[in-house]
Amino acid sequence: MANVLFDALFAPLAGQEGDCLILSDGTRIGGDAFLRMVARQAHALRAAGLVPGDRIAVQVGKSPEALAAYGAALALGAVFLPLNTAYTSDEIDYFLGNATPRIFLCDGAKVDAVRPAALRHGARIVTLNADGSGELRDLAAGQPDTIAPVPRGPEDLAALLYTSGTTGRSKGAMLSHRNLLSNAQVLADLWRFTDRDVLIHALPIFHSHGLFVASNVALLSGAQMIVLPGYDQDAILRVLPRATAMMGVPTFYTRLLGDPRLTRDLVAGMRVFISGSAPLLAETHIEWERRTGHRILERYGMTETNMNTSNPYDGERRAGTVGFPLPGVELRILSDGQEVGPGEVGGIEVRGPNVFQGYWQMPEKTAEELRPDGWFITGDLGMRDAEGYVHIVGRAKDLIISGGFNVYPKEVEMVLDEVPGVLESAVIGLPHPDFGEAVFAVLVPRPGVSLDPQAVLAAIAPRLARFKQPKGAVVLDELPRNTMGKVQKALLRATYSGRFS
Ligand code: ATP
Ligand code: MG
Repeated sequence: MANVLFDALFAPLAGQEGDCLILSDGTRIGGDAFLRMVARQAHALRAAGLVPGDRIAVQVGKSPEALAAYGAALALGAVFLPLNTAYTSDEIDYFLGNATPRIFLCDGAKVDAVRPAALRHGARIVTLNADGSGELRDLAAGQPDTIAPVPRGPEDLAALLYTSGTTGRSKGAMLSHRNLLSNAQVLADLWRFTDRDVLIHALPIFHSHGLFVASNVALLSGAQMIVLPGYDQDAILRVLPRATAMMGVPTFYTRLLGDPRLTRDLVAGMRVFISGSAPLLAETHIEWERRTGHRILERYGMTETNMNTSNPYDGERRAGTVGFPLPGVELRILSDGQEVGPGEVGGIEVRGPNVFQGYWQMPEKTAEELRPDGWFITGDLGMRDAEGYVHIVGRAKDLIISGGFNVYPKEVEMVLDEVPGVLESAVIGLPHPDFGEAVFAVLVPRPGVSLDPQAVLAAIAPRLARFKQPKGAVVLDELPRNTMGKVQKALLRATYSGRFS
C-alpha cells in the first residue's frame, strides 16, 4: 500500500537536482537534497518514539527543516499538528492537552516556558530553532538518506490543524490524506501551476494558507518556492522579478501598494497573484490592477475544508467576490433551511472530498457543524450574484440583529469606508436594552487625519436605513487583527460591551 500524500508531494523529489527551496539569503536546496533531509528527520523522529497515528505538534519558525518535518511526519504515518508561533505557553497547554502529541517540536528559546505543559500532557520536547539548528538537526545527522514511507490510505489522518480562534476557542480539524491531496490537485490544475513556476512563499506554515495551499500546490506541481521567514517587504520586492506567483493575505497587497517600488516593470514576469484568508477590499483589487496590470485572484477557504471557491484563472476575476465553487466541491446557501436565490443572503454550506473528518475530540461541535450527509456549515454568510460569483457577506456570528432587523456589518463598513478620512472600519453589534443589539462602528482614520466619529455617522446617515446606522462610534489607530490578518471582532465586542447597557 502507498502513502497517499507523501507519494504525491515528496517522493517525486527523488533524484531532482533542480532547486526546490530558495532561501532569502540565496541558499538553494535541490529537490533530492530536500527529500534526503526529510528522510533523515523521519528516522530521527522514529528513534525519538514517533509511531503511526501519533500526533506531532510543531511550533517553530519557518525554515527548510520545518517544512521537512511535515514530510517526515507524513512518511511515518504520523499526524502533523502545526501551531501558531505567537501562541503563549498557556495556549500551548490547551493544545498539548487537547491533542496529546507524542512529540512537541519547539524553538529552544521556548523550552523552559513550555516544559511544564509538555510534561503534564506526556509530550516529548525536541528542539528546532528558527535557523534550523537544534536537537532535531543533531538527531537527524548521520541517519539514512532514504526512507520507506509507512503505508497510509486516503482516509487516514494526515494533519490536525487548529482553526484561527476568531470566533471562539480554536478547534482541531482532522484532515485526511484525501482531503489535502484532492484540494491541492484541484488548485494546482485550476491555477495552472507547473514545474516552471517560482512561488513567493512569505506566509506562515502553521496555517492552511501557507501549508496546504502554498506548500502543497508547489510541491505537487514541482514548482520552486522562495521561502521567506515571514512578510518582509524588501525581500518580496527584491524577488518579485524572479518569481511567477505569489499567495498572500490582503494585508500583503495593501502594504505593497504603499511602496513606490511596486511598479508594472517589477512584476512583468509574474503570472498570478492570489489572495485569501480574509476579505480583499474591492478598492485594493482595483488599485492593484491599476498599478501592476494584474487582477488579483481571490479565493475562499477555511481550516476545516481547505479551499472551497476561487475566481477563475481565465475568466473575469471579479473584485469583492470569491468566485465559483472549485471542481468537485458543492456549495449551497441556505436561509431557514431553503436554498436562496441570486442576491439573497444565507448561510454557506459546502460538501466535497476536501471537507474534514470532524473536530478532534469535540463530537458535539462536529455534530453541530457537519451534517450526516456531508454538508459542512461554514459559519459564513454569503450570496451569489446573477452570474454565480459567490460574495462573502460576513460571519453568522457577526450578524447584528437590531430591533428584529438583520444588519450585515460589511454593508455598513463599505459605506463608512467611503467617507473621506476613513481608512477602514469594523462594525459590530453590542447589547442594547431596547434593540437587543445596537450597531456600533470602530473607525480607523487615514494617516494624519483626525476623525470626529459623530461627523462620520452624520455623513453616512442619508445612505443607510435608520436601523443600519451605527448608534455610536469610536476611533482607533488600527483594528485588532490576528496573524492571519483577521479582524478580531469578538475582542471588539468584549471591549465595548457596556456601551449601551
Ligand atoms: P475560528 O473558526 O476558530 O473562529 P477562523 O474561522 O478565523 O477561526 P480559519 O479557518 O483560519 O479560522 O479562517 C476561515 C475563515 O476565514 C472563513 O470561514 C472566512 O470567514 C474567512 N475567509 C477566508 N477567506 C476569505 C475570503 N477570501 N474572503 C472573506 N473571508 C474569508
Ligand atoms: Mg472558522
